[in-house]
Amino acid sequence: MKKRILTGDTPSGKLHIGHYVGTLENRVKLQHEYETFILLANVHAYANDFRQAEKINKSVYEVFLDNLAVGIDPEVSTIYLESGVPETYELYSFFLTMVMLARAQRNPSVKEEIQYKKLNPSMGFIAYPILQAADILQFQTHLVPVGEDQLPVIEQTREIARDFNETFGETFVIPEAKVGRVARLVGTDGKLKMSKSGENAILLSENEETLRKKVMSIFTDPNRIHPTDPGRIEGNPLFIYHDAFNTNAAEVEDLKSRYTKGKVGDIEVKEKLFIALNSFLEPIREKRKYYEDHPKISKEILMEGTKKARKVVIETVEKFREKIGINKLIQ
Ligand code: ATP
Ligand code: MG
Repeated sequence: MKKRILTGDTPSGKLHIGHYVGTLENRVKLQHEYETFILLANVHAYANDFRQAEKINKSVYEVFLDNLAVGIDPEVSTIYLESGVPETYELYSFFLTMVMLARAQRNPSVKEEIQYKKLNPSMGFIAYPILQAADILQFQTHLVPVGEDQLPVIEQTREIARDFNETFGETFVIPEAKVGRVARLVGTDGKLKMSKSGENAILLSENEETLRKKVMSIFTDPNRIHPTDPGRIEGNPLFIYHDAFNTNAAEVEDLKSRYTKGKVGDIEVKEKLFIALNSFLEPIREKRKYYEDHPKISKEILMEGTKKARKVVIETVEKFREKIGINKLIQ
């Protein structure tokens, strides 16, 4: 039997190039080697604010299309809707009792997000890593492709699994995280993380016009006022993006060398980045359009995927109930 992957995204907006290098690329690469489940995490989005349900539902479709657009093959991988598998809530409610409040509040992913998004966090938000533990453990997952910001969440998941196994005997596979080739892609505003909740993302569904606008407004070296000033490469979003998406390595080296010597303007560096990103996005746009134009096929993929995922989850939940002994009460 193949080992399993579980990974996914919160439908809080469209996916961006940070998702690509952080996790999507790994999903696409590994989908043949692992039995892959892709989670459309709408319950996670509701945990932020379920009163925004309509907006969230729209994003579910966008995130679904984004996954297919980058090359998730629905014949090979299973894409499913979190709320379509209500058994997850059962695991979640038990897991909640296994994590002390102080431990949950200490989770660096949670702390960082509260700060970054300036949240007044609900109980649901503080507990989102525990819901995520249920998402992961219910598939007996071996590998979770994620960006670096999610590592503490996977650590918490491992703790829950270990803790449960120690008490009740081998029940859950202990999952491992797999971080992409860029662990955390910087935002176009120079902030530490490109984020779909921020205003600093280049989307995978960007058209040429909006892509150009965004590339032209990327934050660069703030100390470089004239093109003749020597510029800084390190930490400069322009060059981080060139390194990640420009397949012409010689061109990137040439730009870097001229930039540090003050022999190239930002405009040329941006123009070349636009060309590189545009050709990276071209096939993604095309695939996205195919699924946009075939809503029946898309719906079928999601319905079938959710059914299949639920079947696998029910197996784990049955095992879980046996272990803790609640089945005996009604048998
Ligand atoms: P939000 O701002 O709503 O939290 P997000 O952009 O962080 O959105 P998520 O749905 O939370 O997106 O994350 C989906 C996956 O993409 C996670 O594995 C996360 O680690 C990864 N990821 C998100 N942003 C980046 C980034 N800038 N670089 C690398 N990986 C990322
Ligand atoms: Mg996030």
